[in-house]
Amino acid sequence: MYLADQTWPELGDYVAEESVAVVPLGSTEQHGPHLPLATDHLIAEGLAREAAERAGYLCTPTVNVGVSPHHKQFHGTMWVDPPAFRDYVESFSRNLTYHGVDRIVYVNAHGGNMEHLREVGRRLREDEVAFAVEWMWDESIPDLVDEVFERNGPHGGPKETAMIQHLAPELVREKKLAEARDTGLPDIADGDFRVHGARNFYDAIDNTENGVLGDQTDATAEKGERLFEAATDQLVALLEWLDDSRFEDLMAKPHVDPQPGSRR
Ligand SMILES: [Zn+2]
Repeated sequence: MYLADQTWPELGDYVAEESVAVVPLGSTEQHGPHLPLATDHLIAEGLAREAAERAGYLCTPTVNVGVSPHHKQFHGTMWVDPPAFRDYVESFSRNLTYHGVDRIVYVNAHGGNMEHLREVGRRLREDEVAFAVEWMWDESIPDLVDEVFERNGPHGGPKETAMIQHLAPELVREKKLAEARDTGLPDIADGDFRVHGARNFYDAIDNTENGVLGDQTDATAEKGERLFEAATDQLVALLEWLDDSRFEDLMAKPHVDPQPGSRR
C-alpha cells in the first residue's frame, strides 16, 4: 500500500490493524557513464514498494537525495550534509509515530546513508518511540551477489547495473558498459586505498576516474531479476518478523543490577 495514493480514512483503517511502515531512501548521484543518477533511489523504491505490496504493509514516498558529498566532483550529483539528513529523517519518522506507526524499515540503496540511518534508529529506540532499522538491499543477499558476479565493485558495478536493467531498462546506456569497465576500476583488488594503514581517500574520484568500480559487462536483466526477487523475499521476512515482535522486546534491555548490593 503506497501511502500517498491513499485517503486519510483509508490510512485510519491501516493503523487500526498495523503499525509497520517501509521508507525507501536512495541518492541522486553519479553512477558512471552508463547508469542514471536516479540509480539508488530507483532500486530502493522498487524493492520497498514490491515488498510492502506483497506483505500488505505501508510504503511511504521515497527520499531521493541522500548523503553523497563524496560524489560531488561529478556533474549533477545532489547531496545534503549528514546532520541535515539525520534531522530530516528523524523528524518525519517521529511524525509517523504520531499516526500510530511504531516500527520502521529504512529500505536503503546508498552506502553513504547507512551510518546516519542507524544513528536515527538509535535515537528513536533510545526514546522508546519506535523501532527503526536500516536495511541495505545487497547486504541482505551477500552470498548470491558473490555467486552471480566475479568482479563486483561497491558503486555503479554489475549489481546495480543488473538491478536497473531489470527495473528501468530504458535508462541503462547499454553501449557504455564496456567503457564503464575500462575507464573505471574493474577490480577493487587493484585499488590502492591505504597509506601506512590509513584510508587515504575521501571521494569516489580519488579511486576511480569515471566514478564506478567493477565489471559492468557482466550484468544482465535476468541477474537483476534474481537479485531483486531474493532481496524482496528477505525484506518481506524482515517486515513479518517486525510485525510479530512485541514492542517491549525491540526496546533496549534494562541495565544489569544497577547498584549491586543495594537491595540487601
Ligand atoms: Zn549506487
